[in-house]
Amino acid sequence: MTIIKTEIPFSKLEMLNLLQAAVDQAFNAVLITTPGENGRGHKIIYCNPAFCKMTGYSSQELFGQSPGLLQGPLTDKELLKKLRITLLEDKPFLGSALNYRKDGTIYLVEWNISAVRDATGEIQAYVSVQQDITARAEAEHRQALLARALDATEDAVLISDDKAQILFVNQAFEHQTGYSSSEVLGKTPKFLQSGTHTPTFYADLHLALAQGESYQSTFTNKHKDGHLYYAAQTITPIKDENGSIAHFVSVSKDVSDLVMRTHELKKQAEHDALTGLLNRRVGERKLKLCCKTAQSKKQAYALILIDIDNFKKINDQFGHDEGDRVLRQCAKLINSSVRVGDIVTRWGGEEFLIVLPGCPLDAARDLAERIRKVVASQNDPIVGKITLSLGVGTVRLSENYTELLKRTDEALYQAKRSGRNKVVIAEPVL
Ligand code: GH3
Ligand code: MG
Ligand code: MG
Repeated sequence: MTIIKTEIPFSKLEMLNLLQAAVDQAFNAVLITTPGENGRGHKIIYCNPAFCKMTGYSSQELFGQSPGLLQGPLTDKELLKKLRITLLEDKPFLGSALNYRKDGTIYLVEWNISAVRDATGEIQAYVSVQQDITARAEAEHRQALLARALDATEDAVLISDDKAQILFVNQAFEHQTGYSSSEVLGKTPKFLQSGTHTPTFYADLHLALAQGESYQSTFTNKHKDGHLYYAAQTITPIKDENGSIAHFVSVSKDVSDLVMRTHELKKQAEHDALTGLLNRRVGERKLKLCCKTAQSKKQAYALILIDIDNFKKINDQFGHDEGDRVLRQCAKLINSSVRVGDIVTRWGGEEFLIVLPGCPLDAARDLAERIRKVVASQNDPIVGKITLSLGVGTVRLSENYTELLKRTDEALYQAKRSGRNKVVIAEPVL
């Protein structure tokens, strides 16, 4: 056994003075009472300045008093009973209860009470170290309330640190994304990215956040099971007391139903219900746009106007439903003959317009001829041969699209007049 020799540089009296100073200057409130009898009749024999500060009483006011002075109607009587029993059982007691200050205000105190014995083991006093935990309890209560409120909200909430590492997600987030809180804590929200946004989308987001501004957009996110969903999301940077961004809070709502409905309505508004092609209104808009771009870039563009031959007869002979089917069939054949970027619209009853941006006359004529042939080569099991007449026009220098349309329509008329199942080119380019 090693004996460590220690040299204590204090006399007993010096040591006592030091202990007294330590207790007097302690941060925690200290209270010493007489042992009392049978757990009752304790009298205060010492309290330190921290205790006086906590209770609002001076030490003179407290000396000789029962600690019951600090108790009141809201003090838990059951707890006091438990305290008495614990001390009688010769055990230390740790607990908290509501106490009353001199001015009647209530505070929540945490006690740690134990007996002080002499050399013979007899209880000389009880010493109680106490702390006012009102603020801590209120903060904990507030935090618990906020966590419950966040869990109760239907919006998904995510809180991250300044490095975007997730610190908290609520239940709605788990529900919206399919990920549990434990799966995402410590990660960055990158796992939600669907890969459908452009790099500029994220660049705008990072720029706004770096400038301390919140960012609002509809994100296309990826659920844990792989399906994509739309989230209307607001991300807000939260600054610390020094003005530096310390956290980010993201609040989002799943708006997939709304976005899908909007897409569907837009599709319905822009497309012809029978053939699925763009409708005339959108076709006109696209034609105007093509004309404007062509003028500013000094580019060519061409039009093909198509009309089904003797379509009235098909309707009369085989009925309107068969007519509809033939219309759909022609639309499909025309649409599958064009390049990406060409615009096919249902221009009227059994008329179609193709806008060909950047297309020279030769290529437009070849395409018209291909379309004519592919339709004419079919032999429909019910209506037999179907043929088309086509007018092709290419724009003249500084010609307006309405003039080009008129010339192309005249070419179509010529195709009809010269026997149908024909491609006619509008007057030569000047
Ligand atoms: P032409 O060769 O001169 O073009 O003769 P046509 O019979 O095709 O020309 P006309 O313009 O006289 O007839 C077009 C017909 O197309 C008239 C109309 O009832 C029919 N039609 C228009 N829209 C639809 C539709 O959505 N479904 C059906 N089944 N028929 C339609
Ligand atoms: Mg017609
Ligand atoms: Mg016709």
